[in-house]
Order: sequence, then structure tokens, then C-alpha cells
Amino acid sequence: MELDKNNVPGTEHPKDMNAAGNPDSAAALKSEFIVSRRKWMLISFAVYVVLFTVMCKLGFRTVAPIVAIFPVGVIGWFYGLKPGIWAGLGSLLVNIMMFFILDLEIWESFILHGAWLPGTFGLVAVGGMIGWLRSMSVQLRDHRDSLEEIVKLRTADLLKSKIELENLINTSLDPIIVCNTGAFITRFNKAFLDLIGYSETEVLGKKFYNYFVGSQGTYEVTTGETVTIEESIFNDISIKLGQLPEQEKISNWKTYFQRKDQTLVPVLVNIVLLSEEQEGKTGSFVIVRDLTEFRKADLAMMFREVSEKSNQAKSAFLANMSHEIRTPMNGVIGFTDMLIDTELNSEQSDYAQTIKRSGESLLSLINDILDYSKIEAGKIVLEETDFDMEILAFDVCELIRPRLGKGVEIICRIGDELPAHVAADPHRIKQVLVNLMGNASKFTHSGEIELSVDVEEEQDRKIMIHAQIRDTGIGIPADRVESIFSLFEQVDDSTTRRYGGTGLGLSICRQIAQVMGGNVWAESSEGAGSIFHFTAWVKLAEKKQVRRFHSVPLSAKKVLIADDNKRNLKVLKNMLESAEMRVEDFSSGEGVVEAMRKASDSQDPFDLCILDIMMPGLNGYELTDRIRTQISKSVPMLAVSSSIEKGDTKKCQKAGFNAFLPKPLNRSKLFKMIDRLLSETADKEQFGEEETKLITQYSVVEDDKYAVLILLAEDNPVNQKLAVSLLTKAGYSVEIAENGKKAVEMYSAKPHMFDVILMDIQMPELSGIDATKLLREKGFMHVPIIAMTANAMKGDREKCLEAGMTDYIAKPIKREVVFEMLKKWVIDKRDQQAITS
Ligand code: ADP
Repeated sequence: MELDKNNVPGTEHPKDMNAAGNPDSAAALKSEFIVSRRKWMLISFAVYVVLFTVMCKLGFRTVAPIVAIFPVGVIGWFYGLKPGIWAGLGSLLVNIMMFFILDLEIWESFILHGAWLPGTFGLVAVGGMIGWLRSMSVQLRDHRDSLEEIVKLRTADLLKSKIELENLINTSLDPIIVCNTGAFITRFNKAFLDLIGYSETEVLGKKFYNYFVGSQGTYEVTTGETVTIEESIFNDISIKLGQLPEQEKISNWKTYFQRKDQTLVPVLVNIVLLSEEQEGKTGSFVIVRDLTEFRKADLAMMFREVSEKSNQAKSAFLANMSHEIRTPMNGVIGFTDMLIDTELNSEQSDYAQTIKRSGESLLSLINDILDYSKIEAGKIVLEETDFDMEILAFDVCELIRPRLGKGVEIICRIGDELPAHVAADPHRIKQVLVNLMGNASKFTHSGEIELSVDVEEEQDRKIMIHAQIRDTGIGIPADRVESIFSLFEQVDDSTTRRYGGTGLGLSICRQIAQVMGGNVWAESSEGAGSIFHFTAWVKLAEKKQVRRFHSVPLSAKKVLIADDNKRNLKVLKNMLESAEMRVEDFSSGEGVVEAMRKASDSQDPFDLCILDIMMPGLNGYELTDRIRTQISKSVPMLAVSSSIEKGDTKKCQKAGFNAFLPKPLNRSKLFKMIDRLLSETADKEQFGEEETKLITQYSVVEDDKYAVLILLAEDNPVNQKLAVSLLTKAGYSVEIAENGKKAVEMYSAKPHMFDVILMDIQMPELSGIDATKLLREKGFMHVPIIAMTANAMKGDREKCLEAGMTDYIAKPIKREVVFEMLKKWVIDKRDQQAITS
């Protein structure tokens, strides 16, 4: 870069600089100079006058004018050449004036004798000479001053550039080295020392080439890798360095430096030869970049790619394993169920029950292990489905009930604020609850276990549910309460011996809860029972529109079933035949389409198809697709599968299935599902097509619940309001009758509409008891009438039952009690009708 000299500070003429740079000191100097000039002028003039006078008096009159040399010399000295000459000329007049003052005759003789001419000439010469000498010396001094100033500025400039360069080298994050012509290091920065791990004295004056990897072998690299250095790398180094003098630079050279601790650093090297016009080559400038972090990032990326691939392989393996392991287990459990249904003596029955229990616990163990592997593989992915938390909680209690010890009660309590419709992953929530309730039942030998579900927090369109699982069991020592959430941790080894278990459950529960934005924790102390807490965020879902279905008899219905597992096929066939259905079974997808075509050609089409999804060859999805395109769009199709993966339900719906059930198949769930499928098809034929969602085991129960229409007979407006709010929040539909008489009228007008009557006992006009009697007299024998009374007096129950009431609940009514009543008297009744009709 060219410097604009005009703009370089400090390159002004020194005089200008004095004047412009520091005007005050310049003015002071000037005035001092003027004062001293005047002083010398006066002194010299005084000397002249005194000497002139003395010399005249002493008689040296003709040479007296010579003393004018003093003022003339001073003027020449101070004012330069011209004023000096003028002063010499002027001295003639002054001398004449002096003669004139002292003695008139002398000046005449001075003139007349002609002595004035050489004298004046001499004085002019002296004044001019002194003036000239003086101005020459001033010029020389000025010149010297300005030269000195320039040198000073140049030196400062150089120093500044040197410091800047030094700073640049020292502060550079990239290592920098400067070498002389012999490649000996003359300068380097801290980054270089940090890179190679040597001290300053160990580097200075050493050959720069020393820091390239020195010999063949296997080395650790700063990236964490290990590399083998072969001879080829030395060839590369010598070729590159050999070409340097000719090419004058090496750009972006990837190689290794060797650190003091012998590890290698991957580096990018740039070298430029330094040269000067007169001296030629003067050395080299080397900038190095440490590639460790770049390489690490590359490695991490590669690792991610590889682990993603291996995760995919792992999850494919898991899906496969889960199918492979569950399939024979389903066979074991299914056949044991069938065995239990046959005539067995008590010993055989006991063995069979033990096989079933062991099978079930093995299945749950396998599920835990598979789940754990899934968490490990980062595969915990949540589904989102609408579901009813209340049903789910009761379902969990039903599952746990058979595991309870004698004398242990199970209680389910649902908070009034809990909405009926929420959206989240019901399988995962159930898994956590079953696990916690399972533990509670395992460690409680007397007293009770309670599951309660409340709303902890509400934010727009989502709520945090808080489930508490309380037991009166053996408790956990306070110092172990947190550690049991770690993998494989149990309170102590004797727990394993006595109660079994893997120590995986709570850790899985906590991870699931955390994926749902919540947590699992416990409060407990030894011997004082425990409370386990489980929180999770769920979304608020839209209210469901539910149609009421009418059961269809199953007997003589024609079903096609396909499953590659012969044992499962047999279990299923057996179940269906027990309901007198006509079953055709296939152990693969092949031949199914053909059989269906034949059946519809012969005017005896299948009423239902049940297909296993994971069949080799033609799987359930492909088969359904073919059936839908080639045979029938409307035949109800049920998918069954032993592996539940995320997106299964969506895939089923897309393939054309109407419903999905997981294996092992539960008899009552299966019949309920078939009933729903057949009645829906019948309704469709009657009312026309409409977009339907895939039916699942949950949606069947939920639909049943929401389809319930309650007639509430209650006279007190406050109680009416409370009950309606509670029941509608829970998902039911309610109509109100304000007294017994009205209730009888409303029910008699539409007896098929109402599923249940909740009847207050004390009402004006017609009491609950009388209204019930009247209804029964009118012939409405089957409708469940549940009494609600505040008088929980002894004998009330009997009175109600005598009057023809079905059951009895105490006021204020509780949500879970209503649910239990409806389940017992409405929903389960419907199921039984479906199976037995
Ligand atoms: P597992 O029950 O399969 O061993 P968990 O992770 O579910 O594994 O439980 C870990 C341990 O925590 C149990 O072995 C038991 O010692 C303790 N524990 C869990 N729940 C309870 C409970 N309700 N009461 C007493 N101890 C419990």
C-alpha cells in the first residue's frame, strides 16, 4: 500500500510545524528573539558611541568611524545580508553625524580626505558578510532540524508498524511462525506454542521442519482418532518443501504436526517466502491452522449418520423381535385360556392358572425389556389420540384388581374438573399407571390402593393431569425413595428375591412422563405406605358426536380369518365358533381374495374379515387393499397385531381397515368390537355412508359411555345444576325431570332413548320410590333406576330395592361412583347382550 505522504502527520516543515503545531511556544520564542535583538542593538550602538567618542578624544579621529562595525555587525547578524549592507551604508551618515556632534571640522576633513570611502565600503562588506554568514548558518540549522525531525518521525512510524505486526502475530488465534533463510525459527506466537506443546526456548532457533511428523508408526491424534503414518507422507513433505523456492508459496497444505507428547495434530499450512529487493530471499512466513475441531465436527456428523442408521436397524430389529416373542406368548396364553374353559380337576386347573399367570408376567417382562431398548434407541415417540381419562383409569383398576391380595381394596377417584375428552397417548399413560398400580398391588398386603386423577394446571387448550397412586403397603425407606427411579434399582436385594421384578419399571415410567412434559416421583417412608405421583400434559379435545348402536346377533355370521401363526389362528377360530359364528381360516394372505370372490359369487358373502397385519408374503395391509379394490368396499375388516408401533392405526385406516385390536385378543373386547363393526355396517346400509374413524378398543368403550343418556330426577335447582355440570363434564348427556311425576312422563314418552334413571328419593308430587313403583308397574322392567339420597340411613337401601330400584348411591353424587354404576348397569350389560344374543 502506498502511503500518502502529504497526509503523514509530522512530515510538515519543522517551522510550519512549530507555528501550526504549537503556536504559543513559537510566539514566545519570537518575542524572546526580538527582545535579545533589541538588547544587542542598543548595546552595540552604545559601544559604538562610547568608543567613537573616546577615540576622538584620544586623537584617533580618522579611525574612530571603524567602531561602527559593532552595530553594523549586530544588524547583519540579526537581520541578514541586505540589512547588513544597508547598515554599512547607513554607518556613513551616522559617523558624519557623530563627527558633526563632536567637532564640525573633523567631518569636513573626513569627507575631504576621502577616508570615508574605504571605511564605508569596509563596513558595508562587514555588515553584508556577517548577514550572509548568519543567514547561511540559520538555513543550515533549519535544514538540520528538519532532517532530524523527519528521522524521528520515520523511526516512530517504523516502531509503530513493528508493534502492530508484533501484536498481529501475538494475538492471532492461528499459529504464526517466521523463519530466516535457513528455515530456522526467528519468531512465533503463543498459538504455535499451544499447538505443539513446546516451550519458547525449545522452539526459538529450531528448524521449522522439525515439527512435521517425524517417523512412521501409529499415533494418537488430538481428535481422538488413531492414525498410521506411512512413508508416503514423508514423500509428500519433501516434495512440497522442495518446490517452495521455485513456487515461493505453499497454499492450504493438509498435513500433521507432531506435538511434544508425540500426539499428532491435523493442520492446514500456508507458507510464503519473504524477499527484499536488495537482499533477495530473507526467510519465510508460515501460518498454520489447527484442524482438530473441524475434524471433530466432521467425525461427530459421521457418527450421527452411522448411529442413525444403526438406530434404524435397531428399531427394525425391535419391531421384529416384539412380533416374534409376543406371537408364541399369545399362543401360550390363548391356549391356556381355552384349557381353563374345559373340564379340569382342581389340580389341573391350578396348573393351568399358574401357566397363565407365568405367561402373563413373562409377557410383561418382555414388554418392559423391549420398551427399555426402545428408550435406549431414542424411539419413544408419542401417538396422539382422543380418549377418556376416566375410562382409562377404571380400565387400569380392572386390570390390577385380579392381582390384589386378599383383603386389599382398590379405589378409583376422578376429580370433577377432569374433562371427558382429552388428546394424548393413551397407551403410554396406561402403561405408566399399570406399572405404578402394579407396584402398589405387589407391595401392599392389607388396606387399600387408590388411584386418583385430577387436573393440576390448565393452560390454553391443554391441561396437566396429576395421577396419584396411594397404597398402604410396605413403604420405602426415605433415603431410597429417589434411587428406585434409576435403572435396575430396587430397595434392596431381598426385594428381588421376595417380589421379583427387574427394577426397570419406574425408570421407564419416569422417562415416558418426561417425554410428556411431566414427571414421576414418590413420597414414602418405611412401613407407612407410599404415594406415587405422575404428571403429564394432555391436550383438550373436541366433544365427540356419538351415534347409538343397536346390537346385532353374532350367531351364523360368516367370518374370514387369516393369521400366519397356526396356534393364534386356532385360538381365534375357537372363540368365534363359541359364539356360533361360521369361520373360514387361512394361514396366509394367499387365497383370501379368491375365497371372498367365491363367497360373494355364491350369494353367501362374508360378514366380516379379521386379518393379522404381520403375515409373511402378502401382509394385512396389502391384502386389505386388494379386498377393497377387487371385492368389497363395505365388508367390515378388523386388523389384529401383536406389535403396536407408532402410526399403526393410521396405516390401518389408510389400508382400508375399519377397526384395530392388539393381541393377545381378549374375548369380551373382541366380541364387543365385532358387535360394533356389524352394527355400524347395518346402520350404514340403513342411513348411508359417512366418514368413519378407525374403531379401537378404547373408542368402543368411549362411544358406549358417551352414548349414555341419563334421565335425572331431582327437584332441587342447586343440586340439578351441580349434577348436570358434573355429568356433562364427564361426557354424558342428561335430561332433567324436576319431580317423580315428570320423570315417569318423560321416560314413558321415550323409553328407548334413556339408558338409565338417576332418581332422587325425596321429591314433591311423586317421591322417587313411588315413581319407581309406577314405572315398574307400567312394565318398564329393564331400565336401571339408581336411587340418589342424602339419607344414608340404615334400611334405605333395602327400601329402594324393594320398590324396584336397581342400585343406590349416596348424595352428593361422585363422578367415579356414577361411572361405576353406569359401567355395571348399562355398558357391561350391553356387552353381555352382544355376546349372548
Ligand atoms: P420392579 O418392580 O420391576 O423391580 P420398579 O422400577 O417398578 O421395578 O420398582 C423398583 C423398586 O421400587 C421395587 O423393586 C421396589 O423395591 C420399590 N417400589 C416400587 N413401588 C413401590 C411401592 N408401591 N411400595 C414399596 N416399594 C416400591
